Amino acid sequence: MTAIVWIRRSLREHDNTALVEASEKHDEVIPFYVVDDEYFSNAELGYPRVKFWRESLTGFKKEMALQDEKRLVVRKGTPFEELEKIIAEADADALYFNRDYTPYSRDRDQEVEKKLDIPVKTFKDLVMFEKKEILTNSETPYKVYSYYKKKWFKRDKKRPRTVEDYRVPEIESRRVPSLEELGFEAPDDFEWIWRPGREGGEERIEEFKEEILNYDENRDYAWKDSTSKLSPYLKFGTVSIREVFWEAERLKARNPNDDTSGIETWQEELAWRDYYFQILWNFPHSVHEPFMEKYRDNEPDWDRKEEAEEKWEAWVEGKTGYPFVDAGMRQLKKTGFMHNRLRMVVTNFSCKDLWLDWRDVHSYFSKMFVDAEISAMVGGIQWSYSIGTDAQPYFRVFNPTSQGQDYDPKGDYIRKWVPELKDVPDEHIHQPWKMNKLQQQDCGVTIGQDYPKPIVDHGEKRKEAIKRFEELDKD
Ligand SMILES: Cc1cc2nc3c(=O)[nH]c(=O)nc-3n(C[C@H](O)[C@H](O)[C@H](O)COP(=O)(O)OP(=O)(O)OC[C@H]3O[C@@H](n4cnc5c(N)ncnc54)[C@H](O)[C@@H]3O)c2cc1C
Repeated sequence: MTAIVWIRRSLREHDNTALVEASEKHDEVIPFYVVDDEYFSNAELGYPRVKFWRESLTGFKKEMALQDEKRLVVRKGTPFEELEKIIAEADADALYFNRDYTPYSRDRDQEVEKKLDIPVKTFKDLVMFEKKEILTNSETPYKVYSYYKKKWFKRDKKRPRTVEDYRVPEIESRRVPSLEELGFEAPDDFEWIWRPGREGGEERIEEFKEEILNYDENRDYAWKDSTSKLSPYLKFGTVSIREVFWEAERLKARNPNDDTSGIETWQEELAWRDYYFQILWNFPHSVHEPFMEKYRDNEPDWDRKEEAEEKWEAWVEGKTGYPFVDAGMRQLKKTGFMHNRLRMVVTNFSCKDLWLDWRDVHSYFSKMFVDAEISAMVGGIQWSYSIGTDAQPYFRVFNPTSQGQDYDPKGDYIRKWVPELKDVPDEHIHQPWKMNKLQQQDCGVTIGQDYPKPIVDHGEKRKEAIKRFEELDKD
């Protein structure tokens, strides 16, 4: 009795639900990965994410090869065709895999389930709660996070599980294509800050344990860099959602006399993650159009990037003249990551100040984020654009200057990512354009030359955006 376990984004052996289940029922199990040609030709991918994925996959392959009679079998092609081939080669009698919730995965998996003529068993693995597991009292999916969260916390949660003994038969495997073969190269001046794979994920968990008790106090201060940075590890499943949740629970139990609100606040982020996954599953239209019904056929007339090249370029390059916004965009360009506070600030700015189409923002982030996850990204962007679930009302407009003053009071984050402002004194760091000539000379920066003047007047753009939303609401 041989089972194929089709591995997609749970790039680990431990607590990999499909693998655990298969190992309990079969002596022979083939963990199988298909480098999906179709996905690589159609998806909006970028160097940071593909590099993280590739290193995690090769790490997993090595980790399996180190164990007796185990291996990860890798092929390249179209998933359905490659699955058909390996099922025939191994004379397998069952296919196992973990469920995924993105539109692409749903279509792919439906096709596989429909067309293959062996039993297919699928499992929840990526999230704590999926699909319609948490519903309102009237049995509808939640559209408001705070209510969803209450039920999420109350529900019993699965614990991590370990695989039983199994062996992998000798079967031909291919090497994982290189980044060059896949068509990706490091952008100029890129700084690789990640240690992908299982060990990197475990190391991150250990490091974050030192910070987690203060998470609620520190998380919004970009310069403290105190969040877990576990998002790419969760994205590619080199650590599991159950492992990180229960590790946090253990810490609570170990610190019974301490204030553990930091740990709970962090677990709330894991609930946000599940929440957006269930939104994506239950309202898949939100990938292409506003989640909010009233804007669906009545969307603001955003500027597409082709029509607004100058402001688009300024935003992408981190040259808007608003230092906090620019620091966020430059952190992203340089490392593939952006702090959550900045993700909110830069998308509020791209919306209310620049009126850029959220779809272009989404495409750009998809290529740039090491942790690009369609559910959280659509959720976060549409929230900022006041068209999504739990959306902030359109009249509550982030001020790019005061956001910086509040969350980076001394400008440490700005100085790190916008080095031309490194010698600007604290009192001017958030509004360098207000310095006179002499002050500019003193800190070695000429505004308008070394660093841009603000490309828009925030006060005016704020009023304009509110008016445009108000007019739409009248229709
Ligand atoms: C415009 C915008 C776009 C975003 N795009 C993504 C994305 O593509 N991928 C992504 O993983 N997150 C995204 N987020 C959510 C959040 O910014 C990141 O998850 C977080 O910054 C990752 O850093 P961390 O691992 O240190 O998070 P922590 O603060 O340590 O949080 C722990 C984990 O909880 C999850 N999480 C945290 N916040 C959120 C959230 N708001 N929504 C869903 N899950 C969350 C992540 O898996 C994260 O790793 C986006 C937010 C905004 C505002």
